Amino acid sequence: MATMIKISDPIIEQEEVNAVVRVLKSGTLARGEETKNFEEAFSEFCGVSHSIATSNGTTALHTTLLANGITNGEVISPSFSFAASANSILHAGAKPVFVDVNYDDFCINLDDVEKKITGNTKAIVAVHLYGQMCDMKRLENICEEHGLVLIEDACQAHGAEFSGKHAGSFGTGCFSFYATKNMTTGEGGMITTGDDAVAEEARKIINHGSTVAYDNKILGYNFRMTEMQAAIGSAQLMKINGFNAARIRNAAVLSELLSDAEGIELPAVMPGRKHVFHQYTIKVSEGKRQKVINELKNNNIGYGIYYPKPIHMQELYLNLGYKDLLPVSERLSEEVLSLPIHPRVTEDDLGRIAQCVKAAMR
Ligand SMILES: *Cc1c(COP(=O)(O)O)cnc(C)c1O
Repeated sequence: MATMIKISDPIIEQEEVNAVVRVLKSGTLARGEETKNFEEAFSEFCGVSHSIATSNGTTALHTTLLANGITNGEVISPSFSFAASANSILHAGAKPVFVDVNYDDFCINLDDVEKKITGNTKAIVAVHLYGQMCDMKRLENICEEHGLVLIEDACQAHGAEFSGKHAGSFGTGCFSFYATKNMTTGEGGMITTGDDAVAEEARKIINHGSTVAYDNKILGYNFRMTEMQAAIGSAQLMKINGFNAARIRNAAVLSELLSDAEGIELPAVMPGRKHVFHQYTIKVSEGKRQKVINELKNNNIGYGIYYPKPIHMQELYLNLGYKDLLPVSERLSEEVLSLPIHPRVTEDDLGRIAQCVKAAMR
């Protein structure tokens, strides 16, 4: 049997191993220079003035909502995403208001956003799904017009750009460094912002409400990153542009190979955007997806369905009553199929993947 092609495969090399060993031997395992250095390097990468490292992407989102003063009211977010996008809204004490996504770029549908803004709306969480940013120009205008906080769930979009500006530099940005993301610290997260007050508040919230030791101003949490994670993060950050370039190259090759495949829609890269392909996601016409999956399985090729159930259809959220009201999200959950394009995937692998997809669709 041909070797397994995994859907994701973190790249941990000697630099990361050395970094962790260095930290372990230093004796400072938390709240030290490594975290500070990683935060500074990440700010430079995104083009923002502040970055605050957190324990994961979910706590970055939760903290971001609280740091922007959102503890009640409504927060608009897409249903076609990972559950953390909405769970963090509940964690903060607000109510998620689900909107649909666009069929072409999988991003938040801004016509639907405009319809769902009420007097209680506090913020919009835009998810840069699969590594491609939303229409930030129009989204910024909407937020400005209605006085809403703009939050970017950039957990899949490290290094993505809109009009040459990085993800995380438009609103308050939230990143994840989970093992499968474009760069990883195992578990980990980051908040990015250009707003001094939001940054200061976020620093308090992740550290039991204090910036000065044992002076607790507000109810906070322990959402801090460890020094080991930060050291891995700094090593990964040195390589993220190369990782992304490999993903983009692999995506282009796969799209070329699949250009004559029948019955599938290839991922679209919208003009003016840099798509960093956290996932390469095709749409397979109804009924055929399982056939493609079977073919991939038989040939030892990994795949993913992100996400098989939109958030509004999850048991936790059914009582909000959105069933049948977000048709694009519901349709996409039945059609999407992600194929491996991470930096370890080779040209031969891409050939194997394309062959399988085409064989199943014939
Ligand atoms: C990964 C992810 C998160 C959550 O990040 P964790 O680090 O796993 O907590 C949130 N939103 C999206 C879109 C993600 O992909």
